[in-house]
Amino acid sequence: NSGLVWFRSDLRVQDNPALYHASQQCSQVIGVYLLFPGQWKIQYDSNNKLYFWMQNLKALENELSKLNIPLIVASAESFSNAPATLLELSGKHHCQSLWLNDEYGVYEQQRDDDTERLFRHQSIPCHRYHQQTLFIPGTLRNKQGDYFKVFTPFKKYLFQQITPEQTQPLPAPVQQAPLSIKHINPESLEQLYKPTASHIDDHWPAGEAAAQNSLDSFLAGTIEEYHNQRDYPSIAGTSSLSPWLAAGTLSIRQCFHQALQANHGEMDTGNKGITTWISELIWREFYKHILFGFPRVSMHRAFKPETEQLQWQTNPSALKAWQEGRTGFPIVDAAMRQLTTTGWMHNRLRMITAMFLSKNLLIDWRLGEQFFMEHLIDGDLAANNGGWQWSASTGTDAAPYFRMFNPTSQSEKFDASGEFIRQWVPELANLDSKRIHTPHGDNRQMSLDCPDYPLPIVDHKASRQRVMDAFQALKS
Ligand code: FAD
Repeated sequence: NSGLVWFRSDLRVQDNPALYHASQQCSQVIGVYLLFPGQWKIQYDSNNKLYFWMQNLKALENELSKLNIPLIVASAESFSNAPATLLELSGKHHCQSLWLNDEYGVYEQQRDDDTERLFRHQSIPCHRYHQQTLFIPGTLRNKQGDYFKVFTPFKKYLFQQITPEQTQPLPAPVQQAPLSIKHINPESLEQLYKPTASHIDDHWPAGEAAAQNSLDSFLAGTIEEYHNQRDYPSIAGTSSLSPWLAAGTLSIRQCFHQALQANHGEMDTGNKGITTWISELIWREFYKHILFGFPRVSMHRAFKPETEQLQWQTNPSALKAWQEGRTGFPIVDAAMRQLTTTGWMHNRLRMITAMFLSKNLLIDWRLGEQFFMEHLIDGDLAANNGGWQWSASTGTDAAPYFRMFNPTSQSEKFDASGEFIRQWVPELANLDSKRIHTPHGDNRQMSLDCPDYPLPIVDHKASRQRVMDAFQALKS
């Protein structure tokens, strides 16, 4: 009997439950991947991410070859075509079962439920597994049976509930006998999406081996100082694993398991670098549970419904200045240029730039969320939406509205020497470490030694008052 394994954001052979169990229970396995260009456009998925995913798909094809598992890549355009496209492929290749790992966005669930229904109707069983998170979303609830809305109690409860088996990755399946069918994919798979960012292949080489190497080397070195260095963008102090985690080239269990091993099985005591990193992995988990528990966040709606009434400003020129890194706030501009040039941005800077747009400029967080998705190589609805709504104070566990970063103090604190700014804003390269944070001084007069750098587009103090007033107005 032949099983069809549908790959999605799980582009790996290691620790892949659908693939593993299909291989255990079927005499032969065929892999399939569907391209959804129409859907990806609606979701604002960036060319950087799609380029990276296509490279990882090629790497997956290669790994599957070693196991004699052919991979068929077909275009379905939109999610609504997935059930029929899969059924046709399943019939063509005489498959008697479908295997997949669940995804938790509203539209993904709908797509998979429709697919399962259609297959069942044809008496073809659909086997669904879980791999994206440590716990199946919806299974971690507070005493009242509700979803956790605050991170710390969620993390605490997760630590109480987790078992060693839950973090144990599955091995790759064993090699099957060669099949007569070969890989089928569009000739130009690698050329389908042209990245706008440069050096993606150097920073994030495709494939499981590269992702695993990166995890190993992070755990062997950088993680020791993670708790001290993770907030400083000029230091490569974080794992940079997010693109592989988003593509599923690497699994959360692989990360969690190896981190635990490195910390003698402890999650929240022991090595400070490791426990801090584990905590960040739980943020990922938290937002995926939120995505599942509160479907409105998949639909561009605020987690806190009352904040839908906020009076956002319509200011296309300020939005453009933010997008292009020309706000006159060096740390914001350096960060935005890092994003558009590399497809990635440091976490501290994601918070600074998101707060700047949603608070200082009072521009709707949804426009920032979209711009991030259009550029990020690690774009992930749950994490991106969670991060944006946190920053805009419209989300779960959100920063209270009166907590607002001062971009200049953030810059002085987290890029004290100005090294990061100098790397991305060459107009300021000659300024010393004091002036580089406020190149035009406090009175916002154009300085002669950086004439190409814009004046600040907003006054921090006044914009702080404006956002306070806007939130206060919600109360009345
Ligand atoms: P590390 O510090 O090494 O952390 C390890 C992993 O934990 C990350 O790869 C990621 O999978 C997870 N993680 C860490 N912090 C968070 C967090 N706050 N929320 C959720 N997961 C986390 N992360 C994405 O993966 N995709 C996004 O689209 C995304 N958008 C964001 C938007 C905003 C406005 C903010 C504030 C944060 C966003 N994040 C997003 C979270 C975080 O910034 C990135 O995961 C992190 O910068 C990736 O770098 P790293 O792999 O070196 O992280």
